[in-house]
Amino acid sequence: MIKYDPKSLKAEEFINDAEIQETIKYAEENKNNMELINSILEKARPKKQGNGNVCQGLTHREASVLLACEDPEVTKKIYDIAEEIKLAFYGNRIVLFAPLYLSNYCVNGCLYCPYHIANKTIPRKKLTQEEVKAEVIALQDMGHKRLAIEAGEDPVNNPIEYILECIDTIYSIHHKNGAIRRVNVNIAATTVENYKKLADAGIGTYILFQETYNKEGYEKLHPTGPKHDYAYHTEAMDRAMEGGIDDVGLGVLFGLEGYKYEFAALLMHAEHLEAVHGVGPHTISVPRVKPADDINPEDFDNSIPDETFIKIAACIRLAVPYTGMIISTRENEQVRAEMLRVGISQISGGSRTSVGGYTEEERPHDTEQFDVSDQRTLDEVVSWLMDNGHIPSFCTACYREGRTGDRFMSLCKSGQILNCCHPNALMTLTEYMVDYAGEETKKKGFKMIDEELERIPKEKVKAIAIDNIKAIKESNSRDFRF
Ligand code: SAM
Repeated sequence: MIKYDPKSLKAEEFINDAEIQETIKYAEENKNNMELINSILEKARPKKQGNGNVCQGLTHREASVLLACEDPEVTKKIYDIAEEIKLAFYGNRIVLFAPLYLSNYCVNGCLYCPYHIANKTIPRKKLTQEEVKAEVIALQDMGHKRLAIEAGEDPVNNPIEYILECIDTIYSIHHKNGAIRRVNVNIAATTVENYKKLADAGIGTYILFQETYNKEGYEKLHPTGPKHDYAYHTEAMDRAMEGGIDDVGLGVLFGLEGYKYEFAALLMHAEHLEAVHGVGPHTISVPRVKPADDINPEDFDNSIPDETFIKIAACIRLAVPYTGMIISTRENEQVRAEMLRVGISQISGGSRTSVGGYTEEERPHDTEQFDVSDQRTLDEVVSWLMDNGHIPSFCTACYREGRTGDRFMSLCKSGQILNCCHPNALMTLTEYMVDYAGEETKKKGFKMIDEELERIPKEKVKAIAIDNIKAIKESNSRDFRF
């Protein structure tokens, strides 16, 4: 039997099937063990330390017990602690981003993705640099500052040089007061050498969804193409970190395989990164399979109801408190609202998932990667966030100030979030209000900014933030940050 070792660099040792099966069994056996459950809940709770808060997080086994427990009172406690952690570490800020689809050429045979090679009906499209520029201008005109670029895997049509050229183009465009200040990258698993090139190009997070951690299921779902190689895909984050990328983003495509398996494995992956590189994942995404061109989610028999999905997010929040959590427009407004409460820290808004979609007047569907459930404009999402007490943030300061890897954790522990992330959110929200917001949103926004400025503890920081906000309103000065 293959032995479990979180420090190993071999996929099947750090994502170990026997350990996952044991974990699921342990969770099932202990799902009514209230003494154990209460001690796990207590462990997960944030504790005061100096001026800040600290959290221990949970192991994959502990978190799996919470996920298995069906007692509604325990579930409520999990949600309450998730919210407590979220407020302690992320406050009421929600970071906004948009995906940018560069190319849907793909040589893989992924059964859940409409870009799969056997799909002969979907129009194939790859943006030229001129088209990238037009898309980026459209995104800047919406107010976006942070993108996640997406592409199929195709060494001929989408080689690394193409991706790098697109990143350069994206960073170079400054339309009116617009700028894309952080480009996250979601492309197929690649070599250390290519990860080095991405790091040198100044990317933010390298995102790669595992899709499923279940090796057998993985191989069936990826019958052909380079993505078929489970080990190469699963070990990608180690290569990315070896290549100098500090921030990596994990994710599972929920609905493909059993969620208890995925949940335990996802946390094992986080534990592995921590054990080997001394820093866990920067983000975890929780996509669910959606209908798309020739894809019907009902073909996969592991779909999960909203309640389970929300509980998964809450349990992830307890297990890895310092890891950001992302939800996309695959989910509708109602699910997104619930997910925000239990710990999501980043959402996309105004997204188009087709290649070249942002420059089209009407939302195009022909090259879409998946159907978008939340079809509101960015301005509607911003306004809705504020109605629900969240501060929409366009901040990209951390990575630009070198606060990558585990430095967000230090910020939380030192209690400096309200003197750093909070004013950064307010300054970038002011940029949005001045440059892009509709009239109604503007009214709400300026009121929120004034109120939230009062919450900055350090008088000196507050005074600087007030001055900067004044400068943003009265001039074209932009991009202030702590
Ligand atoms: N091609 C790259 C790779 O292989 O990792 C990444 C880019 S792909 C455009 C981004 C992600 O979209 C995939 O990792 C997958 O999880 C997700 N995706 C694919 N088909 C989907 C569907 N039908 N519904 C929801 N998400 C889907």
